[in-house]
Amino acid sequence: MEYLNYPLRDTFLDTLKKYPFEQLTDCDTVNLSFNIDGLQLFKSSGKAMWPVLCAVHLKPITVFPITLTCGNKRPTDLHFLDDMVADLNDLQSSGLQHREKTFKVNVLCIVCDAPAKALVRNTKLCSGYYGCDKCTQKGQWFNRVTYQETEELTLRTDEAFRHQTQEEHHHGNTPLLNLPIDMVKAFPIDYMHQACLGVMKKLLLIWSRGEKGCRMSVTQIQEVSSRLLHLKPEIPSIFSRKPRGLEELERWKATEFRQFMLYTGKVVLRGILRDDLYLHFLSFSVVMCILVSSTTLKQYSQYAQQLLQYFVVRGRELYGKTFLVYNTHTMLHITADAVLFDGLDNCSAFKFESFLHTMKRMVRNGRCPLSQVVKRIEERKEEPLQVQKQKITNSPKDRAFVLDSEEGCDVIDETEKNGCHLCRVYSNPQPLFLEPCNSSIIGVFQYKNTTTTMRWIPCETIKSIAMKTQMGDKTIFMKILHKL
Ligand SMILES: [Zn+2]
Repeated sequence: MEYLNYPLRDTFLDTLKKYPFEQLTDCDTVNLSFNIDGLQLFKSSGKAMWPVLCAVHLKPITVFPITLTCGNKRPTDLHFLDDMVADLNDLQSSGLQHREKTFKVNVLCIVCDAPAKALVRNTKLCSGYYGCDKCTQKGQWFNRVTYQETEELTLRTDEAFRHQTQEEHHHGNTPLLNLPIDMVKAFPIDYMHQACLGVMKKLLLIWSRGEKGCRMSVTQIQEVSSRLLHLKPEIPSIFSRKPRGLEELERWKATEFRQFMLYTGKVVLRGILRDDLYLHFLSFSVVMCILVSSTTLKQYSQYAQQLLQYFVVRGRELYGKTFLVYNTHTMLHITADAVLFDGLDNCSAFKFESFLHTMKRMVRNGRCPLSQVVKRIEERKEEPLQVQKQKITNSPKDRAFVLDSEEGCDVIDETEKNGCHLCRVYSNPQPLFLEPCNSSIIGVFQYKNTTTTMRWIPCETIKSIAMKTQMGDKTIFMKILHKL
């Protein structure tokens, strides 16, 4: 097993220097989050890297590696975490000096998918009977381990974890116990793996490949796919991917499942998926919209928890007991994490995923993958901060917004005059749906095409990017809620 450690203090300081100092003057504490995940390098061999990545939570978020491990199998012991723990303890106790200012350092969270979380916390896997990392319930076997209890769950605590109170949950100790973190709360439910690649994918597989009863007909599947492809030109360029048809479901990436879960699914399934299944999906879609946006979350977190409770219990009625596998079950715990971290994007693997993807592309052949990555990372060191994509471009798909008045707004000309843009404004907003709640709470509206006027709108009020599409004689605007 090859191993390399970048001293955290140095790499963190190099990163901090990239930010304009004016941006840092009001900031005393810098939040860091970490990601530990396996990265398979080649389809043909088991060769994998186990990088530990760090994200600096400033605008824009910057990700860099702190340790790189490469070998033919997953790590057999947890010593690859020792340097990270030592560096982090040092940084937390003495802070980081930059231009005569000492910044406090705070560990926000450690993001992992479920198998990696079990590995680094040295606990049973989520497929085991005591596998839930958030509550102590014992799983029940229905073809695989499921979690049938949905109410009055006994939550794990840092103290109970450190004392290994529920012995069956633990394999042993971990170097991470030496960090001053909450061993339960610091490991959030990651919505990228558990909601997008977990629950959303599971639902799509049931509807398109599942057993008769819940499965759509061939014609219906084709119709959903054709609607998805139809949306392609309307997807704002802030999205890295355009929708693909359901026949390519196995190849969909996490961002495609997110796009479906938060936005496109509501439109493309409408009138096709069985009504009761559609309403059930809508409750999931709405709740995830609430949890990714810190604004809606502040107002509706209690409602979100009730809705998730409904989603899980109703899911069992619709799809059977096997629906309550680990990923679905953890939806009962996810609201608490969203609240704790002020929105799911602050504690998700999305920001790390693109870095992992870049790292994978750094490896061009099978000879010494680690040194190839190290060389490329060295070359990238001088790169400036990533600039965020432009909101308004000359393309129609990047000109849809929802105003504070809830009116839809189409910027006609991207050049501004006297601080305003000429816009087509869609008045008289109507909710797209009323069940499970009024869709206006997540910024989803429909407008009659006849109720538009041309107006000059002040640029500073054109801020909520939206996806705009046609449905019959109505125009739909959906606010983009996740963090870009
Ligand atoms: Zn649980």
